[in-house]
Amino acid sequence: MNNYFVILAAGKSRRFNNKLAKQYFVYKNKEIIDHSIEKALNSKLFKQIIIVTNNLNRHKKRKYLKSVKIIKGGKERSDSSLKALKYLRKYRPKNVFIHDAARPNFSVNLLKKITKNLKNNKAVVPVVSSKDSIKYKVKDQIFNLQRENSLLTQTPQAFRFNELYNLAVKEKSNVNDEATLFLNKDYKIKFIAGENSNNKITYLNDIKTSKTFHGLGFDIHRLVKNKKLYLGGAKIPFHSGLKGHSDGDVVLHSITDAILGALRRKDIGTYFTNTKKYKNIRSSKMLRPVIKNLYKSNFSINNLDINLICEQPKVSIYRTRIVNSISKITNIKKGLINLKGKTVEKLGLIGKEKAIACEVIISITKYD
Ligand code: ZN
Repeated sequence: MNNYFVILAAGKSRRFNNKLAKQYFVYKNKEIIDHSIEKALNSKLFKQIIIVTNNLNRHKKRKYLKSVKIIKGGKERSDSSLKALKYLRKYRPKNVFIHDAARPNFSVNLLKKITKNLKNNKAVVPVVSSKDSIKYKVKDQIFNLQRENSLLTQTPQAFRFNELYNLAVKEKSNVNDEATLFLNKDYKIKFIAGENSNNKITYLNDIKTSKTFHGLGFDIHRLVKNKKLYLGGAKIPFHSGLKGHSDGDVVLHSITDAILGALRRKDIGTYFTNTKKYKNIRSSKMLRPVIKNLYKSNFSINNLDINLICEQPKVSIYRTRIVNSISKITNIKKGLINLKGKTVEKLGLIGKEKAIACEVIISITKYD
């Protein structure tokens, strides 16, 4: 597994109508670049993932695994690619994958397919056929390019490291992708079927969203002695825990119901009945399949706003812990989650520390 994965993210996105470079735009719950990092990590195919960027500060603030390295990019795409190859040389890689951060929608399966094809080939490039008819211009004349003979190249593109390195250091002009280096020398490339969903985000309106929905969740449980307290999946030290068939986590129950509401799929009780099967179940086990379903249906969470209603424990003390836990379970950025603490002036069951309630509102959007 002597493979390395390079993510080119140094572009300024001149064509993207937004002040923020497009690779840092939030898309499907996370920044565009994070999709590529996550998939490369999840595939377990790479020794190291190298992010080439001109925004080092933005990446420095984050905690990455040891296997993720950040290096400074160049002016043009090919400069950044060359910088990554020069950086990697000391590791003596066998293969290197070069990928544009602006393509967040490739699948881990595509990575596996490329790896398999690298066994017998020095260059593997995914391609799709064009949906539009293409013309090309020579001086003032325009010619037809036969659609069935036209191929659109995608990334990741993968190469035997030494071959690509040698070609890249010799190339003085600016090339659009690494496949061009091989083609210019008439070197063989194995073209494999790419993915139509692996589109490049160039313009803001390449991010097509259809409808946005909202969902509301509410829950209340009694507090009882001799039970652990879980809020948002985090264990909170307290004199009592929440009574219920499950761990009684009012926060996760409210989130689950809010999602089901936004998806128009009834309520938590419909899927998790008070039967033996779910006795003392951790609520994260109920939320996870609902979240999985949400993502499978091409929905993403825009934001999650939570009111946790209790006299004690003090929400402000445990806010970070609870938000971190929710972020982990739902796989959404912490910045999209807001947790507010509300007391009830010592009124009623909640005021006497005999119950905890929670309400949640969620917004979700479908990506086409
Ligand atoms: Zn509940």
